[in-house]
Amino acid sequence: MNDAEQRDSADPLKDYRTRFLLPEGIIYLDGNSLGALPRHVKSVMEETIVNQWGSDLIRSWNAHEWITLPTRVGEKIAPIIGAGEGQVVCADSTSVNLFKLLTAALGSNDTDQQRNVIVSEQGNFPTDLYIAEGVSSLLGEDRARLRLVSDGDFDTAIDHTTAILMLTHVNFRDGSIQDLPRLTRLAHDRGALVLWDLSHSAGIVNLDLDANDVDLAVGCGYKYLNGGPGAPSFVYVNRRLQAAMQQPLSGWMGHRQPFEFSTTYEPADGIDRFLAGTPPILSMQALSAALDLYQDLDIRELRTKSVRLTEYFIEGVANIPELTLASPRDNDRRGSQVSLSHPDAYAIMQALIDRGVIGDFREPDILRFGFAPLYNSFDDTQRAIEILIDVVTNRHFDDPRFRERQRVT
Ligand SMILES: *Cc1c(COP(=O)(O)O)cnc(C)c1O
Repeated sequence: MNDAEQRDSADPLKDYRTRFLLPEGIIYLDGNSLGALPRHVKSVMEETIVNQWGSDLIRSWNAHEWITLPTRVGEKIAPIIGAGEGQVVCADSTSVNLFKLLTAALGSNDTDQQRNVIVSEQGNFPTDLYIAEGVSSLLGEDRARLRLVSDGDFDTAIDHTTAILMLTHVNFRDGSIQDLPRLTRLAHDRGALVLWDLSHSAGIVNLDLDANDVDLAVGCGYKYLNGGPGAPSFVYVNRRLQAAMQQPLSGWMGHRQPFEFSTTYEPADGIDRFLAGTPPILSMQALSAALDLYQDLDIRELRTKSVRLTEYFIEGVANIPELTLASPRDNDRRGSQVSLSHPDAYAIMQALIDRGVIGDFREPDILRFGFAPLYNSFDDTQRAIEILIDVVTNRHFDDPRFRERQRVT
């Protein structure tokens, strides 16, 4: 047995790989962008489409409890992010949920006119910043103003004008982890709320939202949670804030009694008030089924393997002088991805994909490799390292067909 095979045979999570449908000959290192397909999701979707939609039709809202699906999925996500009952619900996309929470949070602050600033950082995922800009133009600069930090100095940026600190926990570009406990405490000490985007953390990094008294959070269903393309997102609202927060997309699913069809909006009591319209049942059933993989899992165990995989990869590519590590070398500061920079990163990634190693490219010069400990092995990692060394040192990426830009990178 070689080193990678030895590591795989000692891996307590090794059997999970067989629970995914992975294409033959592909080394999939992009589970941070779109999680792979868990085998059993296929049959759950077939049952949902053929029996529930096809046969039970509208009766399924009651018979198959479609109506409580957003809450039930929220409760499956809660333990994964360290949240107690009644604080997580599944709905809409991350972008839409950011809009709901930011606007609600600024509204709940309107007794305190001085606090109108959303503090975030320059390197945040663009949609988070775009949504904050949208909130600002909707409410006006008097109510919502965006302040971007570029040097990580939140201690200076958060002051008596700050309404909310909105940050992403694991950075999409370099995989670095923000210090959630410290920054949450800092915001609270200055009288501000926090909103954490957990898109690249949920299901892969230990999170203790309740223990850290986090106010608000959102996250993606289609990344490490394996919910499928465009799977709905989740919303976390700390119980102590729910009653004071009224979100702006006051659709009927967030109403106290949707089927009373009353003329005026009255929000539901708990976390359900963060729902808006009819849930996408097909997508949500896929996510719900995928989450069952987490039932017997300890996130700490996933995190341990994730760190070992990324470290193994970093050590394996350290001898390629053309590549620069763009992710933190310190294991505690890195999520489950490794980013490497190279001026020809786009072409290199296309050449890798051509050889069956799937990662992705991020502007301006980042090669991104995501490691999903439920289905990635050390053998995958070792083979990816060998192919990457070959592609870079023998310049296989120079082929002009690898330079043609696609719409999605
Ligand atoms: C993936 C990701 C999103 C995606 O938002 P959508 O509305 O689902 O497109 C948002 N924020 C962060 C930090 C992400 O990583």
